[in-house]
Amino acid sequence: MPASSPAPSRPPAAETLPRCAVCGTGSRQQPFRPNPPEQAPDLDLRPGEPVRSTMARWLQQCPSCGYAAPNITKAHPAAAQAVAAAPFRALLAEAGHPPLARRFLAWAHVLEETGALHAAAEATLQAAWVADDLGRDDLARMWRLEAVALWRGGPPLDAEQTVRVIDALRRAEAWPDAAATAEALGLSDPPEAVAQVVGLESRLIAARDAGRHTVASALPPPSRRPHVSHQKVVPRGEGLVAKLRRWFGRG
Ligand SMILES: [Zn+2]
Repeated sequence: MPASSPAPSRPPAAETLPRCAVCGTGSRQQPFRPNPPEQAPDLDLRPGEPVRSTMARWLQQCPSCGYAAPNITKAHPAAAQAVAAAPFRALLAEAGHPPLARRFLAWAHVLEETGALHAAAEATLQAAWVADDLGRDDLARMWRLEAVALWRGGPPLDAEQTVRVIDALRRAEAWPDAAATAEALGLSDPPEAVAQVVGLESRLIAARDAGRHTVASALPPPSRRPHVSHQKVVPRGEGLVAKLRRWFGRG
């Protein structure tokens, strides 16, 4: 082979790999840059396809200490202590739980230990989505209720977050709590799009329907609602309103 030939590409040496912010171990990790969802999300805002089926790539996990995060080269100062402690080790070792769900629960645990309760709720709900996909209804129900407890344990919830609490309670078949939470949100004069979703949730709860539904089923077709685009956007719950408008082509 002539000396001028380019060297065959080699994997980077271990010292150049991204390092875990908790234990310093270098490992190969794929950055995840999803394409935007094309389908409407579920009522709990689980994204539609194509993002929906990419959950295995949402979090990185250190092969040495087990720290899991969207980017394991970054960590809260208190993360190392949480990762070293017995509860975190027990989560990783729980053989009865699907490995991908354990990764989300590991991230949820670090978030909870570092005081980010709403983010911990989100990661716990994501573990429930993994359980949904595997038909593990028992685990999905348990993790939805844990997510609700984390949401309620944190700062006051806005209308959008409360919709997700209602959906988690409904899908966990916690009917009285789901009905009471939906009624309270409905009485709080939420933005119209939120009210539409709450209306659907209330009907599903009354019918004891614990199944998956998308936000597309919460609003009537745009052609039947000619005045909706002229309505003023209410700042409260704006995130969900903006998303709903985008999903229905009004954004
Ligand atoms: Zn590590």
